[in-house]
Amino acid sequence: MLDLGSGAGSFPAGATRARVIRVDAERPATAPENFVLGDAARLPFPDDSFDAIVSNHSLEHITDLAGAVGEMQRVLRADGYLYIAVPDASTLADRVYRWLGRGGGHVNAFRSAEDVPRLFGEWTPAAARVLYASFSFLNRKNFRAPAPRRLVLVGNGSEGLLRVGTWLLRKLDAALGTRWSVYGWAYYFGEFPEGAPETEAAKNVCVRCGSGHAGAWLEARGAVERRWFGPARYACPGCGARNYFVGG
Ligand SMILES: [Zn+2]
Repeated sequence: MLDLGSGAGSFPAGATRARVIRVDAERPATAPENFVLGDAARLPFPDDSFDAIVSNHSLEHITDLAGAVGEMQRVLRADGYLYIAVPDASTLADRVYRWLGRGGGHVNAFRSAEDVPRLFGEWTPAAARVLYASFSFLNRKNFRAPAPRRLVLVGNGSEGLLRVGTWLLRKLDAALGTRWSVYGWAYYFGEFPEGAPETEAAKNVCVRCGSGHAGAWLEARGAVERRWFGPARYACPGCGARNYFVGG
């Protein structure tokens, strides 16, 4: 499996039994196992060498996008799987992200759900999914280096404020059909004989680690705690942070 634009790893190695090769144009401070420094538009691998490719929020950073797409299509086997997630540049979340990080390294802007599939020509996604934001990139607890000074202008990265803000935006979207709390899209390419991937949006997104969970799944685990006042809440199954439950 190729983790393209991996940084320190866009998913844990333990999440799959596959051998994972991580590629990024910059060497992360802590390089993960099997890390290869490389250009997405000139991958140092033979044709058909991967069973799966994960590109988790990396296409927006790649200068030679057409070159990178051609390389993904070259190194992935014909019966392989491809997962891509990108931010929607028109959303509040991505605008705030770019404002905070002075561009945040985003060189490509995707503004419609068709932008990514169009890049892949004859390859059509088997499924697509809307990704919701938690603004976890603003969470002060996630800054190891000194936080940008602009953070002061957005509640200084307070987790409690993010919890309330995310919940309010999600409720607003549910009531008005707006997209204030949407972050981007995920696409699944490949053959899924056992059924297409889950496309129900995971609307409960952790304000600390950013993991998304479907409401029904959290309810089934008994993770949702209802109180006599205020919104119901749950502890993130990934990191334990307290979040407000938005249903879904
Ligand atoms: Zn979490």
